[in-house]
Amino acid sequence: MIAVPSSSAPRPSWPFSTRDVCERTPEAGPVEVVVVGAGVAGLVAARGLTDAGHTVIVLDKGRRVGGRLSTRVFANGGRADAGAQFFTVRSDEFARAVASWQETDLVHEWCRGFSSNDGHPRYAVRGGMSQLATALAGGLDVTCSVRVEQIRVGGDRVIVTWPEAHGHGAGRVDADAVIVTVPVPQASVLLGSDVVVPPISYLPTLSLMVALDRDVDISPSGGLQLVEDPVLSFVGDNHAKGTSASSVITFHSTSDFAASRLDDPISSISDSLLRATRPYLSGASVVETQLQRWRYATPVEVFPERMFATEGGRILLAGDAFGGPKVEGAFLSGMAAADQINRGR
Ligand SMILES: Cc1cc2nc3c(=O)[nH]c(=O)nc-3n(C[C@H](O)[C@H](O)[C@H](O)COP(=O)(O)OP(=O)(O)OC[C@H]3O[C@@H](n4cnc5c(N)ncnc54)[C@H](O)[C@@H]3O)c2cc1C
Repeated sequence: MIAVPSSSAPRPSWPFSTRDVCERTPEAGPVEVVVVGAGVAGLVAARGLTDAGHTVIVLDKGRRVGGRLSTRVFANGGRADAGAQFFTVRSDEFARAVASWQETDLVHEWCRGFSSNDGHPRYAVRGGMSQLATALAGGLDVTCSVRVEQIRVGGDRVIVTWPEAHGHGAGRVDADAVIVTVPVPQASVLLGSDVVVPPISYLPTLSLMVALDRDVDISPSGGLQLVEDPVLSFVGDNHAKGTSASSVITFHSTSDFAASRLDDPISSISDSLLRATRPYLSGASVVETQLQRWRYATPVEVFPERMFATEGGRILLAGDAFGGPKVEGAFLSGMAAADQINRGR
C-alpha cells in the first residue's frame, strides 16, 4: 500500500475531476515519483518520467493545472491570459517542442516584437496559455486542489502529506523521489529546516484583466511593453492575440507597484490599476474586471543549473528559478529533473 488515506472524508466531487490520490488502491502499484506543482516544469517532468515508464503522480494546490500559465474566463465568454502572455524560443530542445505544438495548431506565432519587428517570434497558445498546460497534462495522473503541506525523507522513501481541504480528506503518499516545482520560498517551507535550498527571491506582479464593450487599438500586434510607466509594465490585447473572441486587455503592473500594494484589498488594487489603464482604453466601456496577484511572478536570481538535487538525490527542485525565468526555462528545468531520475534507472 503506497498512499495511505488518513481521513474518512466523503468522496470529493469537482474539482476532483482527475484521479483522487487519497483513494489509490494497492493494485495501482507503488508511486515512484511525486511531482509537486502542475505548472510547465512539473508537467514536463512528469511527462518525461511517465514516458520512461515510471509511475508518477502530480499534485497541485490550484483548481486547474498551469500555475503561472493561467487563462481567466469572463461572463461574456471573453478570455485573458493572467500570467505569461507569450513565450520565446532559444534552445533546440524547446524549439523541437514548440514546432510539434505548432503542427497541431496548439501554438501559433503571435508577432515578432511589439514596438518594432525584432525578428524573434513571440508564440501564443490557442484559447490561452492555460491550454498548453492542459495539453501537457493529458494522460498524466494529476490531482488538483491538493495543497501539499510537508515533504519529509523517511528511510528510503520520501513522504508527502497534505491537510483536509476543499471537501477532500487529509492524505499522504510516499515515493522513491519527489520533484518540487513550486516557487523556491514555498518549497523551503514544505521541506522544513533540514533541507537547505538555494536562496532565491521573487518579484511580484499584479495582473488586471479588463473586458471591454469594443476593440481598442493597443499596437499593430496588440502588445505593448512599457518601460517608464510607474504602475504598468505590459499591455496585452487578448483579442488581437487570438486568445479571446471579444475584447479583453491584460495589464501587468510593475514589480514596484505590486510590492507596495500586494496585500491590499482587491477592490482598492483594481481601482488604482484601472485608473492607470485609462489612456489605453480609448473611451471603451469596461464590462468586467478580474485581478490576479502573483506573489512569486519572477525569480530574481536564477540557479546556475537546470535543477537542484538535495543531499541523497531523493528530492529535486525544478522550475523557472533553475532553467531561467520564463516558460522556456521552466520547460528545460522540468526536462532536466526528469532526465536526472531517468538516468538513475
Ligand atoms: C505576470 C507574469 C507574466 C509572465 N510573462 C511571461 C512571458 O510573457 N513569457 C514567458 O516566457 N514567461 C512569462 N512569465 C513567467 C512564466 O509564466 C513562468 O516562468 C513559468 O510559467 C513558471 O513555470 P513553473 O512550472 O516553474 O512554476 P509555476 O507555473 O509557478 O508552477 C508551480 C505550481 O506549483 C503549485 N503549488 C504551489 N504550492 C503548492 C503546494 N503547497 N502544493 C501543491 N501545489 C503547489 C502552484 O499552484 C503552481 O501550479 C510570466 C509570469 C508571470 C507571473
